[in-house]
Amino acid sequence: MSAATPPLRLCHLYPEHLNIYADRGNIAVLRRRLEWRGLALETVEAGLGDPVPADCHLYYLGGGQDRDQRLVAEDLARKADPLRRAAERGAVVLGVCGGYQLLGRGYAAADGRTLPGIGLLDLETVAGRRRLIGDVVLSATFDGQAGTVVGYENHAGRTYLGGGCTPLGRVLRGHGNNGGDGCEGAVAGRTVGTYLHGPLLPKNPWLADILLGWALESAGRPVELAPLADELEQAAHTVAQTRAGRRR
Ligand code: GLN
Repeated sequence: MSAATPPLRLCHLYPEHLNIYADRGNIAVLRRRLEWRGLALETVEAGLGDPVPADCHLYYLGGGQDRDQRLVAEDLARKADPLRRAAERGAVVLGVCGGYQLLGRGYAAADGRTLPGIGLLDLETVAGRRRLIGDVVLSATFDGQAGTVVGYENHAGRTYLGGGCTPLGRVLRGHGNNGGDGCEGAVAGRTVGTYLHGPLLPKNPWLADILLGWALESAGRPVELAPLADELEQAAHTVAQTRAGRRR
């Protein structure tokens, strides 16, 4: 790859509203892991009332409290068609926690009102009385690769998957989608949702590389991403795993 290679493009949806637990750090990881391979990431922000760019290779929604989700949900519903078209042409869509819930069909929030979702993932979310909080460890097979995923969850919503998507992983520690069925997150094609903050990608670099591989493919530039040293990342992963084990 030469320096003249055009950058991958990422659309960051609602950076003002959906960014708790430093979820924007996921974008920093994607950018850095590209740069370490001589590639670049260009970020476009799309907030309330902004159009969704049709030419991005990744679309990202972070987490948010119910109040923030309420502020963006109707606007996001108006962005559903371009996001669906992007997913259909193979772009990556990643949603975390509040963003994950809004990728589903809807979120019945704690105040009894239901927020619309965009139905990119076949799932529904209903707020429970007790929040599901703590460190999480998953066993996951993602794009054919098996590994563990670590993170932190804090949500009232209980998410139930339909037949149109599969869980991101099985819960080894923590609560996951609903605290009952042992599943966490959802994947359908290249659309991925998860409750895991931390943020997600710094401690789970293998997930980041799979997402980048998909994004490069959707850009028509499939490349074998050179492995990175990742010692710090693996150490952080191990610390999170140990902490989750102790807290159980
Ligand atoms: N408001 C949602 C819930 O509590 C999502 C919270 C979050 O993004 N951490 O379920």
